[in-house]
Amino acid sequence: MKKDISLSDLISKSNIEHDYDPNAMSVEKARTWITNFLSPLEQEETIHIKDALHRILSKSVKANINVPNYDNSAMDGYAINIDSLKGEGPFSLQITGKVFAGNQLEGNANEAVRIMTGASIPAGLNAVIPQEHTETHQDIIAFKTKPFFNQNIRRLGEDIKSGQIVFQSGRRIESCDLGLLASLGIDSIKVFRKIRVAFFSTGDEIISLGNPLSPGQVYDSNRYSLIGLLKCLDVEAIDLGVVPDDKNIIEDTLKKASNMADVIITTGGVSVGEADYMKEILKKIGEILFWKISMKPGRPLAYGKIGHCHYFGLPGNPVSTMVTFYQFVREAILTLAGQTPIPKVPLIKAKLLMSIKKIPGRTEFQRGIYEQDDDGIFNVTPLKDQGSGILRSMSEANCFIVLHEDMAHLEKDTWVDIQLFTSLA
Ligand code: AMP
Ligand code: MG
Repeated sequence: MKKDISLSDLISKSNIEHDYDPNAMSVEKARTWITNFLSPLEQEETIHIKDALHRILSKSVKANINVPNYDNSAMDGYAINIDSLKGEGPFSLQITGKVFAGNQLEGNANEAVRIMTGASIPAGLNAVIPQEHTETHQDIIAFKTKPFFNQNIRRLGEDIKSGQIVFQSGRRIESCDLGLLASLGIDSIKVFRKIRVAFFSTGDEIISLGNPLSPGQVYDSNRYSLIGLLKCLDVEAIDLGVVPDDKNIIEDTLKKASNMADVIITTGGVSVGEADYMKEILKKIGEILFWKISMKPGRPLAYGKIGHCHYFGLPGNPVSTMVTFYQFVREAILTLAGQTPIPKVPLIKAKLLMSIKKIPGRTEFQRGIYEQDDDGIFNVTPLKDQGSGILRSMSEANCFIVLHEDMAHLEKDTWVDIQLFTSLA
């Protein structure tokens, strides 16, 4: 597969790639094609670190100080100079000074200095004996074993050295990183601006919350699933509501969305029904590929561009919307957001507790419940109802059972790959 082909070329000359078949696109190929058309948006902003959780660094971060920036005690105890200890022990030394964290040495460091955790090691001393390893009689301490050089001392720069690159550009900032940045005295960082994602549901039968349902109508669930999915990716989500199966309104909404967003996601209307207008409209106002993905659930999928804006047309069935989002859109958004490297969703080996019927030729993402047994083995049970309209299956499940394209019927006890929902969040 060529990696440098443009979207326009692929649309106008779809026979240039011998393995490109929009009617039988494998999950892997669809993923690779989409990634081929994406690059990070690369607009940056400066923010305070307290607002930086889960943002993506646009510039690497360099330490300008050592952490810690002075040798200090890791224990409450006595700082000593091990070179002053003669023979095998036991040893006794006089307490000649004391130093508390944040304070100067009182007295002198001639023999043993009473020291607290985090206090600066007085010049000339090179080990700390924890107080529980000593016996004290008035101002004399006694201890049995000679400590080794630098024992219980946190050395200057042992956590981070001044000049060191602490984080590379593209890193997604986690909670621990906020603390680490603060330990370096860094209060603001440069990050990529948040990706703007506009989304709407399509369908004459789709009703927004707050309205009564008439026969033949369903509440819009996809938009709410998407709100959650997008929140996990920390994008700026723009909810454009429900749009009926009306060519003019869909076209207007898509144009409006393309003017305010970097990514547009729609659900419904991408298959071959009479009222599935997305194909016609998108061909008119953008560049678009419609694929029949060899997967279940989630067969129809559209990817393309409207102006500068990336477009994902997801199938309307509520489980299909979620599966296609997880398998294609999630990674695309992380790429546009500038995250590098994009973490691969781990596939974990699990033992099937029930047989599964499957025909080769498509990848299935069955919803399952895994449990880890006392030996650490993952066991997985597929849920009984696997219909693409059964959204309850997503809520009940805690993983996808990934049944690869070439797999056929699977007996109980077969090892299969699972994707934990926690790793997709
Ligand atoms: P479509 O992809 O438009 O052919 O829709 C496929 C199925 O998904 C139909 O049964 C729709 O009623 C249902 N559906 C489409 N969009 C939504 C939505 N936003 N919420 C709930 N169900 C939907
Ligand atoms: Mg529809």
